[in-house]
Amino acid sequence: MKGLLVVDVQNDFCPGGSLAVPEGDKIVPVINGLMDKFPVVVASKDWHPKQTVHFQKWPVHCVHNSRGADFHPGIQSTKIEQVFLKGTGNKDDGYSAFEATNLDLKDYLKKKGVTELYVTGLATDYCVRASALDAAKIFQTFVVTDAIAAVNVKPGDDKRALEDMERAGVKTVLSTDIQK
Ligand SMILES: [Zn+2]
Repeated sequence: MKGLLVVDVQNDFCPGGSLAVPEGDKIVPVINGLMDKFPVVVASKDWHPKQTVHFQKWPVHCVHNSRGADFHPGIQSTKIEQVFLKGTGNKDDGYSAFEATNLDLKDYLKKKGVTELYVTGLATDYCVRASALDAAKIFQTFVVTDAIAAVNVKPGDDKRALEDMERAGVKTVLSTDIQK
């Protein structure tokens, strides 16, 4: 069974947001186009308290219940069956969707019978990378390369992140090559 994981496609990570990923919104229609190809569609949200050590490293973003923490308005959020909230404590970064605190993502996907997980979203070099590396320990994991976008604090971070994922056994795939 195939599962689709949509990582952190939230306003603050899209152009106009407080921690915008360049062209982060370009992946929205690609992800929407994938949703109907998957029997299981879940998403993660960065969901931070107002004060957290995480904001010593990053501009304030995705504070819980703020507009910046909402999904990008273009995402077909009604097709997302469950949202997993991460980074909810004041001492953790919560880069990986598998660190969600409202529900256990691994248990949820296993109960649904998911064996192959396709990872999409923002950002390639942080939360997508961390989520895919955790996923690869449990599931056959794919990263959909036209459905992710990178922060690139340092040029080439996106390429290095993909190399890290591939080294961990994650396969790369294009959205157009995914069959229903
Ligand atoms: Zn964050």
